[in-house]
Amino acid sequence: MELHHHSEQLAWFDLQPDGVAGFISIYIWLDEKNAVIETGPACGLENIMRGIAAAGLAPEEIDWVLPTHIHLDHFGGGGHLLRELPNARALVHPRALKHVLDPQRLWEGSRAFLGPIAEMYGEPLPVAPDRVAAVEDGAVVDLGSTQLRALHTPGHAPHHVAWVADREVFVGDALGLWYTGLDRAFPVTPPRYDHALALASLDALESLDTEWLHYTHFGPRPAREGVSIAQVREEFKAWLALVRDGVTAGEDAAATTARLLAERPRLAETEQGMGPHQAGTHLGSVRGMRGWLDAQL
Ligand SMILES: [Zn+2]
Repeated sequence: MELHHHSEQLAWFDLQPDGVAGFISIYIWLDEKNAVIETGPACGLENIMRGIAAAGLAPEEIDWVLPTHIHLDHFGGGGHLLRELPNARALVHPRALKHVLDPQRLWEGSRAFLGPIAEMYGEPLPVAPDRVAAVEDGAVVDLGSTQLRALHTPGHAPHHVAWVADREVFVGDALGLWYTGLDRAFPVTPPRYDHALALASLDALESLDTEWLHYTHFGPRPAREGVSIAQVREEFKAWLALVRDGVTAGEDAAATTARLLAERPRLAETEQGMGPHQAGTHLGSVRGMRGWLDAQL
């Protein structure tokens, strides 16, 4: 377990769920109160406990568990983790609360969409009602010297939240997938995706005075005074235009994905060496965008 010290107050590590490296980053904010941002899937429990120990914290010293949203790769392990952290409470978007208390529908939906990858992630456990609460837009979690603010950022999911700490923001999946080696990010959407909301959330994130964008997939990205977010917006818009053209031409989702891979600079490189999670990710995003276009008719 290699722990990265991004700053005195922020540590992060590669969760490596089921041995898959470079896919899920877990962040730990160290202050008078300590917060874990994202939990990863159920199968990452042992590794996240290792990461917490590597950061020098005992399980009882974690006060907050703050996922950006509750898809399996972000909070599938939330119920498991909270059983190990006796003093921690989780905060989730109001629309996610009932699915955290009773994850049955989330699990069934995930199995339908992700197939064997859902089985590899593992089944979420329900969170006890006294261990989780809904967080409104703008609500602040006081960690001592730092205040973490919830910024509702729907689009990728209707229940997506970004966590803002001064000039750092934990962006979850609101700004796509970040590929350090390629120096760019590309959209990622599940089957239920709202493009208009996603772009509005992108604007909300851009309006912050931010130095670092902390991606879940994967790692810290310099914000470069809006340049990085502008790059993501360009991809989101280009992808949607390309998907729209495909629909108009009667193309199927696989053919549109092939065209995307051929036309978007460096996108094809994401298909190499990214493990089982990557396979089908872009196809899934094309389907998500087609779904949103269909819903506009
Ligand atoms: Zn994700």
